[in-house]
Amino acid sequence: MMPVIFVGHGSPMNAIEDNRFSQGWRQIADMIPKPKAILSVSAHWLTRGTKVLTVPNPKTIHDFYGFPPELYAVEYPAPGNPQLAEEALTLLGEAANADTGWGLDHGTWSVLRVMYPDAGIPVFQVSLDRLATEQEHFDIGARLKLLRERDVLIMGSGNVVHNLGILDFSLDGGFDWAYEFDDFITGRIIEKNYADILQYRNLNAAAGLAVPTTEHFDPLFYVLGAVDETDTVTVHNKACMAGSVSMTTYIFA
Ligand code: ZN
Repeated sequence: MMPVIFVGHGSPMNAIEDNRFSQGWRQIADMIPKPKAILSVSAHWLTRGTKVLTVPNPKTIHDFYGFPPELYAVEYPAPGNPQLAEEALTLLGEAANADTGWGLDHGTWSVLRVMYPDAGIPVFQVSLDRLATEQEHFDIGARLKLLRERDVLIMGSGNVVHNLGILDFSLDGGFDWAYEFDDFITGRIIEKNYADILQYRNLNAAAGLAVPTTEHFDPLFYVLGAVDETDTVTVHNKACMAGSVSMTTYIFA
């Protein structure tokens, strides 16, 4: 069964910078078998209802502002996989619909161009339903789990701690509350206590600061839903940066 991963993506610049986080991403490709295709659930594709990208050649979307020209020049020309996207739609049932308007957003390509620079592995995305509950996100991941048997790498791309309003670039690490929340999630993941993670807002006092909006945290639920009880987890790239972002990454295999 193919592993399932949650990747902390942070700044889009990680796509073109050689730093400890991008080096960590490169290592992931060596830690897991080569997938037949990649299903990405990115923090940067929010929709009404769940959408599955079914196009054969997804465009590269530069969905950020104020970055240097070389970042806008990046293309990630991985093919799609319409057949596997249709299989995902079948697994999700009538609540999900095909989409041909999106492409690969930077939550997806910033990580994948480092992991798989030749863009040879087909990629498709599943959107985040902006109205879904934590449990509903988790249940969608559980439905998609079967694709792991088809050598599809399910990847959630977001950040466990993501509060851009109070970034402090003078800090190499994180604020105390950022570590408190990041460590809370790591601990529960190691214990396989996903019920607590679904209740994170009630169980951790730092949750309000760490997850002021949910789009970067919610991809984790898809990943946890797709975890098998036989999986063991590797905690990777565990770090906070600029005070209020955690880059912590989880590989379940
Ligand atoms: Zn992001």
